Amino acid sequence: MQQIEPFTDERNQSWCIHCTRWLSDVKTNRDHVPTKSLLQKPYPENLPVVAICEDCNSGFSKDEEYLLVFLSAVLSGSTDPTRQSNPHAAEILRRNEKLKARIERAKTAYKTIGGETQIIWKPEPDRVRQVLVKNARGHAYFEYGEPLMDDPARVWFTPLQCLAPEERAAFEITGGDGVWPEVGSRMMTRLATGQDLVGSWVELQPGIYRYAVFQEGGLVVRIVLHDYLAAEIVWDA
Ligand SMILES: [Zn+2]
Repeated sequence: MQQIEPFTDERNQSWCIHCTRWLSDVKTNRDHVPTKSLLQKPYPENLPVVAICEDCNSGFSKDEEYLLVFLSAVLSGSTDPTRQSNPHAAEILRRNEKLKARIERAKTAYKTIGGETQIIWKPEPDRVRQVLVKNARGHAYFEYGEPLMDDPARVWFTPLQCLAPEERAAFEITGGDGVWPEVGSRMMTRLATGQDLVGSWVELQPGIYRYAVFQEGGLVVRIVLHDYLAAEIVWDA
C-alpha cells in the first residue's frame, strides 16, 4: 500500500476519534489503522497512522488481542499454540493461559447426523464489536475525513460462509449512492487512481484484511478479516 498524502485540511485532527477528547489535553499515541495485530508480517508499507489518546489506545488492546486469538483458534480449529498459522496468536496463547482457557470454553464439539465431529465457536460479541467499530472509525476517518463521534447505528458481523449466496453477493457489492467523496480525500484519490482497489474494496493484505467505505444514506464501512469474518458498521447521515 502506497502512502496517499494527507488530504485537504486538518480541521478534524484535534480530537481523539474514539472518545472525542481534545488531544492537546491528553497524552497521545500513534495508532495504526487497521490494528496492526490483525495483519500479518511483513506489514503493508505506510499503514495509516492516527493520533489517539493513550487511554483509548490501551483500552482497546485487550479486545484486539482477544479477537486476534479467537480468529486464529477458529481458523485452526484449536487453541493449541503449535497449531496456529499466525505466530503472534501462537505467542499470545503461550503466555496467556487465562485467555486460552476462556477461548477454549467458547468451543463446542458436536456430532452431525452423519457422525462427523463439528466444532462451533461462540465469540464474545461485545469484544468483537469494540474492535470492529474502532477500525471502522479509523477507516472512515482516513478515507473520507469524517470523524464519527456518535455510536454507529448498526454493527453486524458473521462468518462469510454463513451468508446465503444472495446475501454474500449483496455484501460484496459496495459503492453506495454514487456520492463522490470530497476532492483531496484519500477515497477520492483511490477512485481516481485505482490504488489498492479491487472492485470497490481496499485490499490491504490479500486474504487477511480488506475493507470498503462508502455512503449509502449514512456512512457504511465493511470489513473482511482473514477471508472469514464479514462485518458491516453503519453510521446514520
Ligand atoms: Zn480517546
